[in-house]
Order: sequence, then C-alpha cells, then structure tokens
Amino acid sequence: MLHCVSLRKSPVNRVLFFLLALLFFTFLTPCLYAAPVLCTGYSWQTVLERDDRTLTYSFDTTGGYAVEGYLSESLDEVFAAIPQWRDVIRRSLDSWGSAADISFVEVPDSGDAFGAFGAQGALRFTAHPLYQAFAHAKVSPPTGTVEETTGLSMWGDVHYNSHNLDAGEWDASSLQNTTTHELGHALGIVAHNLDPGSALFWLGGVAEPSEHDFADIRALYFPQNEPAPILTDPLIDRPRDWVALVDGSADARATLTVTKDGSVLTSGEQKTGIKGVGASLADENYGFDYVDLTLEAGGRIATDGHNAYGIGAGDFNAITVDGFISTEGFSADGVALMGRSNSLRTGIASLIRTAGAGANGIFVGGEQDAVGNYYGNAVLAAGRIETSGAGGCGIYAAGFSSVALSGSILTLGSHAAGIGSDQYGSQHIAVEQTAAIETRGHDAYGVLIRGGEQCLGHAGGDHHRRGEKLRHLWLLVRCQRYRDRWNDPYCGARSNGGACRRE
Ligand SMILES: [Zn+2]
Ligand SMILES: [Zn+2]
Repeated sequence: MLHCVSLRKSPVNRVLFFLLALLFFTFLTPCLYAAPVLCTGYSWQTVLERDDRTLTYSFDTTGGYAVEGYLSESLDEVFAAIPQWRDVIRRSLDSWGSAADISFVEVPDSGDAFGAFGAQGALRFTAHPLYQAFAHAKVSPPTGTVEETTGLSMWGDVHYNSHNLDAGEWDASSLQNTTTHELGHALGIVAHNLDPGSALFWLGGVAEPSEHDFADIRALYFPQNEPAPILTDPLIDRPRDWVALVDGSADARATLTVTKDGSVLTSGEQKTGIKGVGASLADENYGFDYVDLTLEAGGRIATDGHNAYGIGAGDFNAITVDGFISTEGFSADGVALMGRSNSLRTGIASLIRTAGAGANGIFVGGEQDAVGNYYGNAVLAAGRIETSGAGGCGIYAAGFSSVALSGSILTLGSHAAGIGSDQYGSQHIAVEQTAAIETRGHDAYGVLIRGGEQCLGHAGGDHHRRGEKLRHLWLLVRCQRYRDRWNDPYCGARSNGGACRRE
C-alpha cells in the first residue's frame, strides 16, 4: 500500500503515473496466457524463411480505414508534435531487428481495412481511440502459418491511442518507449514481465530493448544449441546433460524419475534441463506432454543460460519436485508449466532457486482452446523457492490456474513478487497458514494481483518485507469477494483503470 500511496505524493508522480499507465498497454491476441517470455507457437519465423528475413511495415498517414469499429486516424495528425515520428518508430524496429536478424522494409500502406486479407505491410502502424491504453499490438502469427493460412493480416499491427493518456499529445520519448514495448509483442513476446529494465516490464517501457529482451527474442527466433538427446529410459540416476522427452498420451503416459543420484546439468543459453522435442521456445512442442515426472530428494537440475528452464512442461503432465532446481539466466524459470492441465507439487524439503532477471521459481501458464474452454494448471507448493533477479516471482500465475502456497518464498530482486499474477485469465491463489513470503528488494510485492478476475483466497501466512513483519500486505488486489478486506481501493482503481476493464 505504501508503494501506491507514494505514487500519489511523489514529486515525480507524473513520471510514475506515466509508467503506471503503461500497464494498460494491451495487445490483441488469441493466446493471452503465455509464458513470461512468450506464447509458445508464435513467431514470424515461417514468414522470415519465405521472405529471406525481411518483414515489411507501413504507416497509415491517410486515416479513414476500418479498425475495430473505428475509422483509423492519420499518424501524421496524431503525431503532429513529433516531426521525426517516422524515425522514432524506425529506431525501435531496428533495435529489435538487430537482435532477431530481421530487416524491416517500409512499403506504402495498402489502404485496406485493418486485418483484411492482403493488407500491407506485414506490420501496419495506425491510430484509433483506446480506453486507458497508450497502444496495443497484435502478436506474430502462429509458427508454421503465413497470412494465406490464417486468412488474416492483422498479425504484428500496432495501434496507437489517438490521444496520449498523460499529456493529451504524444512526444518523442513516450512514442519511443511505447513503440519498443509494442514491437516486443508484435514479434512474439506475448506476456509482460516484472523486470523494470525490460521493454516488456508490466509498469512501463524503455527506449531500447535490454539484454534480457534480446535473450527473449533469440529464444523465439534462434535455437542456440544442438537438439537435446531424446530420452527413452524412464530413469536418470547419474549426472547428465539436457534431455528431450517424447510425449506420452492420455492412454499411455510416459514416466521419468530423476533419482537421488541423478542430475541434469546444462550449460548454455536456452538449454532447458528437461524439455520436449521442439528446438525453439516458439515451437508448440518445446514442452513435453502426458509425462509423470518426479525429481526425487537429492536429485538435481541446474542450468546456467538465459531462457534455460529447469523443467519445461507442455500439457497434461504431473510433476513432483522433492529435489533441487537452480537456474542462472534471464527468464530461466525453475519449472515452467507452459501449457494446460498440468499439476505440480513441491515437497517440503524441495528447493527451487533462480537468479536471472525475470526468472520465476515456478511459472504457471495456461491456455484457451479454439472454442474458449480453459484448462487449468494446479500448483501445490510446500517447498522453498528463492529468486534473486529483478522481477523474479516465486510463483507467477497466468492463464486459468490455481496456486496453493504452504511453503516459503524469498525474493531478493527489486520489483519482484512472492506470488505474481497476470492481468489476463483467471487465477485462484491460496496462501495457507503455514506459508511465509519474504521480499527484500525495493518495490517488491508479497502477492501481486493484477487482473479483474483473480481471487486471493484463504489468506494467511506471513509476509516480511525488508525485515519488517507485516501480515496481509497484498497490493493491487482485485477480488470482489475479498476486496473489502484486502483491496486498496486506490490501487485497485488504478490497476484496472477504474472500471475493471480487461483488454
Ligand atoms: Zn504490453
Ligand atoms: Zn486497435
């Protein structure tokens, strides 16, 4: 709460309000519930292979085209106060393009309705009125598809609010930060993170993508390693390098046990300890499916590279962790439940430790199928989780998920959260009486609840913040049932634009 009150009283509150308002950067996507890095299955890779690593872009300088129930507005008019607005946008394009080896080539805007088949460029920039958002962007197309497959052209399009939320008028700095942020989405980094240095930081933006962001974009476009050997033996009982698991099935589940003498030790970027057979995080099968996986007490998984998870799970897995998992790199979650219908249990003697910026102990994803059904993930965390990177959550809950913490979480990084939740989807978070959450970094949260459909239930446990013991320090809580008890109305209103609106 202090955090929020200080926003109102701070002499730099305009800057902070700007950053907070960036929270409302939204993105149009059919796959809202994504791993912190990305939504597996989305990148421009197929288009880039076809078009020799070139993506076209265009500026709507005419206006008057149909876009989401509005008529688009000319960027020349919207950015009238920034004569060099084209160069500002090109700078953001080039900085992401240098990391993803993408050449962006400007073409004339085709003047079609936005989203219409055949509309050019591949990334179209326009403006229309937006509620409580600076801009939004559509993610890249599902990997393996091109426009001819999907019949749609809105992939990667960026729409600015025709009126800057803060000042009413755009300036070069807010345009730069906004564009860099939205292009992260447009290139496939679907979800926000809690690392304040990242362009995809949930509360703000930066002019240039950070090393963390570059590592994330490489994970989508550049598999960094030789493929992991496919493991058919159901036991790992000695130290070994990374492994890929072939999916089981609903009728014949696969099993893998890492015994007390076993360990998986990897060195290198994207070198996830135990994963599926896909090469890149943009592949749907990067995580394994239908596996019963056990990490026994004494067993160990350790990775040292960026985007190298301890365990990368897809769908329908049952995972038990009684051993030790540690990761070092950016976005390298200890256990990433990237897909749906997983259950994860950590035992009281287990330890999951991450060190990189934006690296969560446990990431709980989830997804929606084509007709809108949700398939939840469930986590029962009785063990110990420690994160030390900026924005590293003990547990990050996204999608439709259920998290119960009875163990303990320690976060050392700034802007971290013991338990963080996504602004999309629906999460139920239970903090049991035996649970303990301690945050030592500045601007860190015990439990951070962001969206309009989360519920914090059965709140108990202790939260220590910088040595000061506080009970029930829940920031930005949005839960109708509990709001009278734990919601800070000011923060809640702020965090939801006053209207619980989700985009
Ligand atoms: Zn965003
Ligand atoms: Zn739009």
